Amino acid sequence: MAGSSPLIGVLALQGDVREHELVLDALGVAHVAVRTPAELAEVDGLIIPGGESTVIDKLTRIFGMREPLRARIAAGMPVFGTCAGLIMLSNRLSDATHDQQTLGGLDVTVRRNAFGSQVESFETTLHAPDVTDDGVAASFIRAPLVEEVGPDVRVLATLDDGRIVAVQQGNILGISFHPEISGDLAFHNYFVGLVADAVSSVHA
Ligand code: GLN
Repeated sequence: MAGSSPLIGVLALQGDVREHELVLDALGVAHVAVRTPAELAEVDGLIIPGGESTVIDKLTRIFGMREPLRARIAAGMPVFGTCAGLIMLSNRLSDATHDQQTLGGLDVTVRRNAFGSQVESFETTLHAPDVTDDGVAASFIRAPLVEEVGPDVRVLATLDDGRIVAVQQGNILGISFHPEISGDLAFHNYFVGLVADAVSSVHA
């Protein structure tokens, strides 16, 4: 941990890294791009961005990041996945490509591209009362859907028809959509709170 304020990493192998960095800047939170095990070791929490989960999966293996990531997640590091990041954090995928692996951590089953292709992307306002009293501006871009949740998983947000798009299990947060693209700070702010709590419990 850097000084007294938490340092948040953004996994920078592929995806919308810059948008997450801008949200963390807006929240005044220290952050660093993470590409190596040494960089991962320095951070108090990690964001896994949206992008393409099959590519992020391959790059975590090529860059020797898969096992260090799994170890930190298992040790309780707070981690926040948006879209492809949610896919990477899911224990089960209903439509993985033949050699696709996830890091796991969330006891959920996720379906990739559940809403169709890029042209079926949409924006909506979600309600996530555990996260914020305000509506959350959410962009869904080739988004995944959480199809099943285990008993220890808390649902933080659904679409109006009840389909699950945001979950939390302990220090792991996964959402189907991109608040960083809509510039909505609420979920990042909530995640920063998880990181601060984890840091202060270590130092208590
Ligand atoms: N469909 C992409 C995947 O499978 C996720 C899209 C996104 O992150 N916006 O990884």
